[in-house]
Amino acid sequence: MVHWSPFVSFNKRYPWVQLAGHAGNFQAGEYGRLLKRYCECEQLCLLKLMGDILRPYVPGYYGVVQRDEQDYNLMDDLLADFDSPSIMDCKMGSRTYLEEELLKARERPRLRRDMYEKMVAVDPGAPTDQERAQQGILKPRYMQWRETLSSTATLGFRIEGIKRADGTCNTNFKKTKHREQVMQALGDFVDGNIQILKVYLQRLEELRSVLEKSQFFRTHEVVGSSLLFVHDASGQARVWMIDFGKTVPLPAPLTLDHRTPWIEGNCEDGYLWGLDNLIDILSTMLPP
Ligand code: ATP
Ligand code: MG
Ligand code: MG
Repeated sequence: MVHWSPFVSFNKRYPWVQLAGHAGNFQAGEYGRLLKRYCECEQLCLLKLMGDILRPYVPGYYGVVQRDEQDYNLMDDLLADFDSPSIMDCKMGSRTYLEEELLKARERPRLRRDMYEKMVAVDPGAPTDQERAQQGILKPRYMQWRETLSSTATLGFRIEGIKRADGTCNTNFKKTKHREQVMQALGDFVDGNIQILKVYLQRLEELRSVLEKSQFFRTHEVVGSSLLFVHDASGQARVWMIDFGKTVPLPAPLTLDHRTPWIEGNCEDGYLWGLDNLIDILSTMLPP
């Protein structure tokens, strides 16, 4: 699902591209800025991030604006400095739901036939004998199973979408799971350009060392957040963190290292584990 939004980004000839989320969540702003449908959780994160060492790695945030009675968070359009950019959205972490969502899904447990059917449509062998007999599954089980389809559970990140400069686009990575498949997709994304790969790798290594020191990162469960990769023919290549709709502060004094495997209750999100894997994969794609 890719949306070529009806608006054309400020000062640019190409239409703005959105690789995830609902169409209509975004509007063009002025001066290379973008409006994203308001979410309080995201606002609180962006505000804190503006005062954190992660600031250079997130879109600049300019507060809340209203348009047609809808509130929006106003932020930098990260595509603004590029010409016909290639774009990739990588969703980070070893799970994409919050612990609180899992708890909520367990309230009033109910067999879900719709989820059972979705599961069977993707993998007829996935339901247990009992689930098959019941023709239904519980929502928490569905949520956990879904993460095992892509590389989320096994590598700690998954590709959500890729749009290349030539206009080709792919958001069908839901079953891109194995290292070799991911490598293939990354290679296609950079069109075999080793120089671009090197710049991305360097930027990710920088980001990792900043994440390891960030007060914000240590004190938040970061779920469903993405790294947005952007490059163009000039050789410019950058990576930013986006989407903080499910990034929540931890109850003090709890902190995370983002690498320890998740056990329910420890809130670990596998973000840095995923970034380690991504860096490792990109490194092996470079000639020795
Ligand atoms: P979801 O939660 O389903 O991932 P969402 O509504 O929270 O979606 P985002 O993930 O924040 O939306 O963004 C969706 C897409 O919009 C991204 O994949 C990216 O292509 C584009 N996008 C988001 N923020 C920016 C930005 N600041 N600059 C440029 N592009 C952006
Ligand atoms: Mg997103
Ligand atoms: Mg989101």
